[in-house]
Amino acid sequence: MSPFEEKEKEVILEVKNLKTYFYEHDNVVWKVLDGVNLKIHRGETLGILGPSGAGKSILAKSIFKLIERPGKIIDGEILFKGKNILTLPNEILDTIRGKDLALVLQSISGGFDPLRDMTYTTSQPYREHAEIEPDRQEIKMLVISQLGTVAIPEPLRTSDKYAHQMSGGESQRVKIATALINNPSLLIADEPVSNLDATIARQILDLLRIMKEKHRLTMMIIAHNLGVLAELSDHIAILYAGKIIEYGDVETMFYSPRHPFTQGLFYATPSMAIRGKLKPIPGEIPDPRNYPSGCRFHPRCTYAIDKCKVEAPNLEEYEENHQVACWRAKDIPDYQPG
Ligand code: SF4
Repeated sequence: MSPFEEKEKEVILEVKNLKTYFYEHDNVVWKVLDGVNLKIHRGETLGILGPSGAGKSILAKSIFKLIERPGKIIDGEILFKGKNILTLPNEILDTIRGKDLALVLQSISGGFDPLRDMTYTTSQPYREHAEIEPDRQEIKMLVISQLGTVAIPEPLRTSDKYAHQMSGGESQRVKIATALINNPSLLIADEPVSNLDATIARQILDLLRIMKEKHRLTMMIIAHNLGVLAELSDHIAILYAGKIIEYGDVETMFYSPRHPFTQGLFYATPSMAIRGKLKPIPGEIPDPRNYPSGCRFHPRCTYAIDKCKVEAPNLEEYEENHQVACWRAKDIPDYQPG
């Protein structure tokens, strides 16, 4: 294996048995993440797909150790380049967050300090982590260059703008530029295009794809939109009721999903492949305060057997590079769009 290939195989993030619960008067009311395991290698993009309330955003916040009361990470490990984020002292963690580990939150417009221009906003993580105070000229040049990298058409002009002068697309590009200013090893983007119109969303997706292909950026993209993940991901993990229920490379997940929930998701989503009537998944997403026993999908699953109601299946190897948490994975009919 060449040194380059070896580096590509380096595990950047490994999450082991992560449990993040929310409490009310010392009682657990919501097991948002209930034993999540995942791994991301250098240069890879992992897509996290799941319905609303599955725990996707809490996963991003947990990795950054940003969970506040009434939430608590009660178990597990989050190994970032081999170091457990959960046991690092805060002063060490502060040297990693915003520098080597970056986060872009949902694409809601705004979120910037209305009194600061985009030069100040974009350079904030750089200034926070600089060993010596950078001078204003250096900051300005860096910000203009960074805004150019994320394809802002007039970086100098944008660097002088304030929040109220920014469009939605421009804001999202600035957020990405800000997250990438310290050249992080991992970018986590939570719903990076969810509130943008189709044209701007297209541009942001193209930008992330270029970052991935040209700069070998390692990413975890969280989305509920299949199209977003199909474009950017190398692997996809499906999160349902606090657990990863299926994981595989992007082709396998789109052409041969095996878990009944994943198949149901595809049958219920309009696409070129699905001709005819869409089939909604019966039932509702389970109440996180009262998950069903056994497999948490069993009340909605047409393949459920008695065992599914009492025993929870683990995520297990179904074939190379494809893991499924389902007792009947081998019996489930192949996914047949159209
Ligand atoms: S374990 Fe049982 S209930 Fe769960 S998805 Fe598989 S068949 Fe359905």
